Amino acid sequence: AAEAWRALRDEPAQTLDGVRIGLHMNAGLLTDLPSLEGSGAEGVGLYRTELQFLIRARVPMRGEQAALYDRVLSHSRGKRVVFRTLDIGSDKVLPYMKPQDEPNPALGWRAIRISLDRPNILKMQVQSLLRGAAGRPFAIMFPMITQASEFTAARDMVLEQLERHIRNGWPAPQRLEIGAMLETPSLAFAPDRFFRESDFISIGGNDLKQFFFAADRENERVRKRYDMFNASYLRFIELIVQRCEAHGTPLSYCGEDSGRPLEALALAAMGLRTLSMRPASIGPVKRLLRSADLREARGVIDAGIARGDVNLRGPLAGWARDAGL
Ligand code: PEP
Ligand code: MG
Repeated sequence: AAEAWRALRDEPAQTLDGVRIGLHMNAGLLTDLPSLEGSGAEGVGLYRTELQFLIRARVPMRGEQAALYDRVLSHSRGKRVVFRTLDIGSDKVLPYMKPQDEPNPALGWRAIRISLDRPNILKMQVQSLLRGAAGRPFAIMFPMITQASEFTAARDMVLEQLERHIRNGWPAPQRLEIGAMLETPSLAFAPDRFFRESDFISIGGNDLKQFFFAADRENERVRKRYDMFNASYLRFIELIVQRCEAHGTPLSYCGEDSGRPLEALALAAMGLRTLSMRPASIGPVKRLLRSADLREARGVIDAGIARGDVNLRGPLAGWARDAGL
């Protein structure tokens, strides 16, 4: 099977009806980087920077962080890399941070909420990214943005650091994209201005599903009741796609679902054009996308929604089977 995927590596993920889907990879450790070559990923759609924080006994210093970001960009050889700023709290607890006594950590003080309340950590991280990039382009995105003002505040902080970096005479990145993760339903209803100001948006489906269904992603018992093929969720995805299209905001999906072939196909059918996943998923996802007619898949989903189906997995899987996919 490994050879079969390798043969696909340099082929585009283009559906039978001619739609190109960009397949990127999720990463977080230096050991992930060789997969950028091997998997045929077009870039790193999600680099989880918190992993370097989680495996240390203290905050990694500027120089250490910059060295890591430098290596990531060197490995990527010009492919696009999206660095997600520190996403801690909830299930990701730093060994050197006082544990918070919160009744609902997933709904608690986490991710961008910590970064905005304790801006020094984010500032230091942005300085390290700018230093590590040494003029190369990169993208930065913020986790768990819930309302537009959080994005604006975080983005302003990045721009301030960029100005400072330039004032110091250091090389500015050729291009710096600043985007948001859409992981809470409220952000989908943000003012138009948010969609115009965000250089890109990436759906963090693991968290988005958790908050959409009010079902703890860590709690198997409740999590399994709902999935991505739920008609309400697919309609919600469509709404996000439409809002992004209306403002020309590039949209991607980077939760675990984008690495599952049938789920990836459904996301593409709903209008997603960029998916980010673990490297081993790229081959299987690409194989299915290349053999599928996206318009037909969308027809199956729309028919199910029109019928009032609660979940579209069955119909879509049945259609794929009948089509010999
Ligand atoms: C997500 O929530 O879908 C996501 C990509 O981020 P994480 O799984 O790291 O929370
Ligand atoms: Mg998340």
